[in-house]
Amino acid sequence: MSDGHGSGHGYEAELTAAVDAVRLASHLCRAVQAEIDDAVLQKKDRSPVTVADFGSQALVCRALQAAFPNDPVIGEEDAAALRQADNAPLLARVVDHVARLLPGATPDAEAVCGWIDRGGHSDHAARYWTLDPIDGTKGFLRADQYAIALALIVDGQLTVGAMACPNLPVDPAQPDGPRGAIFTSVAGHGAAVRPIDDADVAPTPIRVSATDAPAAACFCESFESGHSSHDDSARVAELLSITAEPVRMDSQAKYAAVARGQADIYLRLPTRADYVEKIWDHAAGAAVVTEAGGKVTDLAGRPLTFTHGRTLSDNRGVIVTNGLLHDRVLAALAQAGVK
Ligand code: AMP
Ligand code: MG
Repeated sequence: MSDGHGSGHGYEAELTAAVDAVRLASHLCRAVQAEIDDAVLQKKDRSPVTVADFGSQALVCRALQAAFPNDPVIGEEDAAALRQADNAPLLARVVDHVARLLPGATPDAEAVCGWIDRGGHSDHAARYWTLDPIDGTKGFLRADQYAIALALIVDGQLTVGAMACPNLPVDPAQPDGPRGAIFTSVAGHGAAVRPIDDADVAPTPIRVSATDAPAAACFCESFESGHSSHDDSARVAELLSITAEPVRMDSQAKYAAVARGQADIYLRLPTRADYVEKIWDHAAGAAVVTEAGGKVTDLAGRPLTFTHGRTLSDNRGVIVTNGLLHDRVLAALAQAGVK
């Protein structure tokens, strides 16, 4: 069966491992999410997101260790806090969820912490993976959008992307249809989408929109105004004569929306002078959008630089478009004085 990226791209093993890993992690996240009830929400108990975060990272890093034992992983989490004695009940929940998805294996706490810690690298390497085990934790708690985002970077270039969005409709034409989509990319070989729940369904290639009139554009941004300035985006939208209301959603699902033409623009505009974007919040999404024909830069039009360890320290803000609208959006940002 085709992997959705043509033949002979040379990253077949990486793509297969990445897709299988984010699919398994999606199942864990859904199982943990199913435990969130009114009592959890009323107590403002954030432990489900902690359990899913660690569990997801354990499963993905375990899979990468088995397939590519020499590849470092720059992940969002490490197991230091989880190893503390007073977190033993939390660790037991993580181990339980991980074990349920590994039939035949009986991982103990030390094994699970070891897998999580494999994601604790922070230095740049010629070849490395970056992982956000749950991107959009607030969306996860709200039973809304979140993503498991994994990317392979080789010589600083986004090379393979695999991003699972467990709550996103598989087919945008059927918003009430089945949910759970995995978006993939291979550098130079396009982007594709496949369902989480049926590994036998062939991936479908995806492409950004053809919208070239800014006034007709639809843009998306963070649900959280603390993560992206809603005031600045409103000014930019006005300058571009955009009339559609912004689509606000959590996580890199926003990149998926642009990649398959549901939205034309994703704006991430700084809310603080000192915030530096993390690579795992952008690598997989940017890989998919770029391969779907779109463009990803920072506010100044510079490409995102994945060669500085854990952060995008060369960049400020993130601007994602279908490519056709990019220069117009950058010009509007400059005109609005967004820096
Ligand atoms: P989103 O779901 O798109 O709003 O983004 C979620 C991500 O925002 C999290 O994974 C955090 O790493 C990141 N984040 C946290 N604080 C900020 C901030 N002040 N500005 C931008 N991103 C942030
Ligand atoms: Mg994140």
